[in-house]
Amino acid sequence: MAEQLHADATAVIGEMEKLRNKYLPQLEKHTAHLKTMHAELVAEPMAQYNSELRKFVEGTSDAPVEPPKEPQLTVMAQALYEREMDKAFEIVRKLNHDHRSLHKGVSRCGKDLDKYFEADLTNLLKNEKDIEEDVANRSTVDRMMFEYFLETGMTDVADALKKECALPIASNKVKIHEDLKTVMDLYRQRKFTDIIDFLDEFTTKKDDHYNRIIFQLHSMNFLHILQDQNKYIALDYCRKFEPFGKRYTGEIQHLMGALHFYPKISPNYDDLFHPNNIPALESCLMHFVSNVNSALETLVNVGADALPQMLSIRSVFNSRSLLPESEELPITIDIPNSCHSTFTCPILKTQASQNNPPVRLACGHVISKEAVNKLSNNRYMRQTRVSRHGNRMKCPYCPEEINIADNVLLYFN
Ligand SMILES: [Zn+2]
Repeated sequence: MAEQLHADATAVIGEMEKLRNKYLPQLEKHTAHLKTMHAELVAEPMAQYNSELRKFVEGTSDAPVEPPKEPQLTVMAQALYEREMDKAFEIVRKLNHDHRSLHKGVSRCGKDLDKYFEADLTNLLKNEKDIEEDVANRSTVDRMMFEYFLETGMTDVADALKKECALPIASNKVKIHEDLKTVMDLYRQRKFTDIIDFLDEFTTKKDDHYNRIIFQLHSMNFLHILQDQNKYIALDYCRKFEPFGKRYTGEIQHLMGALHFYPKISPNYDDLFHPNNIPALESCLMHFVSNVNSALETLVNVGADALPQMLSIRSVFNSRSLLPESEELPITIDIPNSCHSTFTCPILKTQASQNNPPVRLACGHVISKEAVNKLSNNRYMRQTRVSRHGNRMKCPYCPEEINIADNVLLYFN
């Protein structure tokens, strides 16, 4: 889908470029021509007339005796004017006609989007969770959204969500929330040194990540001073880079280069003044302060990777009107940062789930509930042991024979 849409968009852009290359030079040339003509035929005579008129009214020594006559366009000049204006209209008319070729491309984008966009995501999993009606699930989703907003620094949105959903928020999260708000407010007011002071107090583990953030804040402040105040104050501020000299030598040299050439800086220094730098640092800062790894973000990323494969699997299962029996996905999806604990039963080689949780036997070995059922239903077990010793089974890993009643279900958070 993405490839198709990319191709559609590229075609439209190509078409626009063609029009642009054809008409822009013509329009520019013509506009310049009209401007010159206007200056010669209208602006200059009018300026002359105004100045004479002022002299006449004020009665200065070089004032004309008679009031000056208002300049008129000659018939020739009028004809010239009209001809040039007609030419300009003709260019615009042609452009208007030609740009219709764009419509086809633009409407193709919309059609392909409709055609390839998969809106129906039902029946993808056996254990689909109801997040609309089920109160517990809904509150989990609300909490995940809250954490996501917190992590990305949208504290006001997080606030509103918390209020509207009456979310119970753990006290450590409330603290993070307040800290984030403080930092966000300072950042929006560009009070970089205040943020540095705040982080100095706030951070217990001053590692590389911390140093990197502090260096970036100093750099940002330095550029801010350079642009808003003057070179000498910026030069004085450079002392702040001293502790970072060894680690960020190249970057500091780059900043010094900008200081030297400012304001006549070459495009080599454009990266320092790029408007995206402000939101980029803001995002780093938010991640650092919130220290939350949003589960929602992970879910969305994993989902985006998995969906195309799951959709094609669904069509296979639908055509045979069955759903996968197991709760495991029939495909493997790589998750960059594994976000929850899993247990794979060493007997059945399947992943534990809500319906098939891990069970700890009295001897300490852990297998899945299904494996326990299978082992305790084993005919050999029933004949030889269960009948004689009550509800007992033998651990598959050690010589222990255990009472099934002593088994404990395990839960992973
Ligand atoms: Zn055992």
